[in-house]
Amino acid sequence: MNDETRARLETRLRYYDDLGLGSFYRGRAAASSPEQPETSAPVSAAPLVEPQHTAALPTASAALPLMQAPSLFDAAERIEGDSLERIREDIGDCTRCRLHKSRNKIVFGVGNPRAELVFVGEGPGHDEDMQGIPFVGRAGQLLTQMIEAMGLRRDDVYICNVVKCRPPENRTPEKDEIATCSPFLLRQLAVIQPKVICCLGAVAAQTLLATHQSISRFRGQWFDFRGARLLATYHPAYLLRNPNAKGEVWKDLQLVMAVLGLTPPARKR
Ligand code: SF4
Repeated sequence: MNDETRARLETRLRYYDDLGLGSFYRGRAAASSPEQPETSAPVSAAPLVEPQHTAALPTASAALPLMQAPSLFDAAERIEGDSLERIREDIGDCTRCRLHKSRNKIVFGVGNPRAELVFVGEGPGHDEDMQGIPFVGRAGQLLTQMIEAMGLRRDDVYICNVVKCRPPENRTPEKDEIATCSPFLLRQLAVIQPKVICCLGAVAAQTLLATHQSISRFRGQWFDFRGARLLATYHPAYLLRNPNAKGEVWKDLQLVMAVLGLTPPARKR
């Protein structure tokens, strides 16, 4: 193996390690002995897990109890000739909720306006608030690695959040803040019309599915969201705190890859 190949392989393995794929593959091989401690066996030699297709897509209304959706949600979606530019203009220098008081920059969204895949997070953090770009901090770097492990680039997808301004101390957005800001998200999704919406974390999933249920109840399941397929997985920030969950997220991403017809990266080589 020459130096260039070795360097590329090391970079790829670091991606997989960050995604927790090492333990995922090892866990599968050692399914009959779950207590076995992790080893440093090379992941490149491990087999890929086949993506799991779901035979039928339950609708959100069929699978989950729906909250009463705010009427603004419906009104926000029926804007003829809407565009991302128009939505951003409508947001303006927004003071509609209290989150405007402590924000530095509004974080609207970034990526391909015709993306087949949209990632929806909760809200901006410190780095995002400073730069005005979603998912650029540590969690964002992990998301970028996840996207690249799927065989995509950040520019191929669209990335945005439920609330466009950073909650103080990175707290969870309040219900009224979500209700005020999320119509902009719904308009973004209506304009982009992605094939797949991947909710990152409970807030995004609970907002779009209009449910109070814990994300652990429906993570990794497909839902119909107004013509798009919606799947919720854990937020990259959660993965930074709980690396053991990375393998579960990779399983979820493989489901997304299967729907989008993406080839698992290991098969490209
Ligand atoms: S979070 Fe949304 S609704 Fe609240 S101030 Fe920012 S842009 Fe406006």
